[in-house]
Amino acid sequence: MMTPMHYILPILGVMYEEYGKATSISNIADQWTGPKSNPLYKTPVPDEYCKPDSSMHSQDRRANASIVVLVRNSELWEIMSSMKQLEDRFNRKFRYPYVFLNDEPFTQSLKHHIRALTSATVEFGLIPSDHWRQASWIDEERASKSRDDMVRNDVIYGGRYRNMCRFNSGFFYQHELLQKYRYYWRVEPDIQLFCDVDCDPFLMMQDQKVYGFTIAISEIPATIPTLWNVVKSFIGANPDLVTPGNAMEFLSDDGGESYSLCHFWSNFEIADLDFWRSEAYSKSLDEKGGFYYERWGDAPVHSIGAALFAKKERIHFFNDIGYQHDYFEHCPQGDVHTKGKCWCNPDKSVYSCLYQYDKLLL
Ligand code: GDP
Ligand code: MN
Repeated sequence: MMTPMHYILPILGVMYEEYGKATSISNIADQWTGPKSNPLYKTPVPDEYCKPDSSMHSQDRRANASIVVLVRNSELWEIMSSMKQLEDRFNRKFRYPYVFLNDEPFTQSLKHHIRALTSATVEFGLIPSDHWRQASWIDEERASKSRDDMVRNDVIYGGRYRNMCRFNSGFFYQHELLQKYRYYWRVEPDIQLFCDVDCDPFLMMQDQKVYGFTIAISEIPATIPTLWNVVKSFIGANPDLVTPGNAMEFLSDDGGESYSLCHFWSNFEIADLDFWRSEAYSKSLDEKGGFYYERWGDAPVHSIGAALFAKKERIHFFNDIGYQHDYFEHCPQGDVHTKGKCWCNPDKSVYSCLYQYDKLLL
């Protein structure tokens, strides 16, 4: 098995130095792009799930799934942009329902504009405050000192972001509006979808997979100083919960001793809600307070959960879904680019931790 470590190491080196400086992320995004030909594990969504014709038929098989959007009222136009693309390239045909969530009541204006974009069912939910607000047992003095230190050190989102990361890590799947669903596609404001999604990713998930991603990158170490130690103690205390044949090699190059920092970039996720619901791990992490005393992101938390508790073949790289958010994108290459009628530049994809994923499956 060939491991292109010479790609990973310099990339991580650049990242440790640079990622902490929010202003320089766009520079390093360029350096993260990979070579044109690469050995990625790129199984497309199988043809049986594809529907190139323009509409669903009543006898078509459907997954028990919804599109989940956490958004602020102030992000109306940004979420409209994401949703318009999702409708045009995917959901006009498949008509999966939407669930919008917010820690404040949605404005009538947002509801009106969102409903106008789709003929699918749309529900709007309020997040219960104990799923969002900082718990009273968190030592606020310690938490605010950590925020101040991160701001001083220019760590991206050093001073805010905590409630959202905690909610997305351990709570969204408990929301009452999601109880009737098994699978979700997480969508954020200001994403781009570059290709037609003619093959139903939910059905493939339902038949075969637990967790799906398009971009895998490295986490900023300053946000998770103790996370891996906490994970290691969890594994030590609950060896029976760790799934044999898991994806530990994505998380670690030394058999679990240290964290590779690789994570699936969770602003895009298509995954199984029951997988999270069954997890003792999120609750155990919440009790440590690292969402507030550090700045644990939902991306490493989900990724570590998926990699430890799913069999590695059940984590799927959606190569055929061209996607961009903030500074990073995934653009399919070759025939997949053509088949999806993609309009992105295939040379701009981010590869840093996809190599780590490759190692699992080659
Ligand atoms: P980034 O993608 O990591 O830069 O983080 P974002 O600022 O985009 O936040 C991630 C997601 O959480 C997006 O869907 C935001 O709309 C949502 N979000 C973040 N903070 C809040 C908040 O305070 N309230 C609500 N309702 N949504 C939030
Ligand atoms: Mn975002």
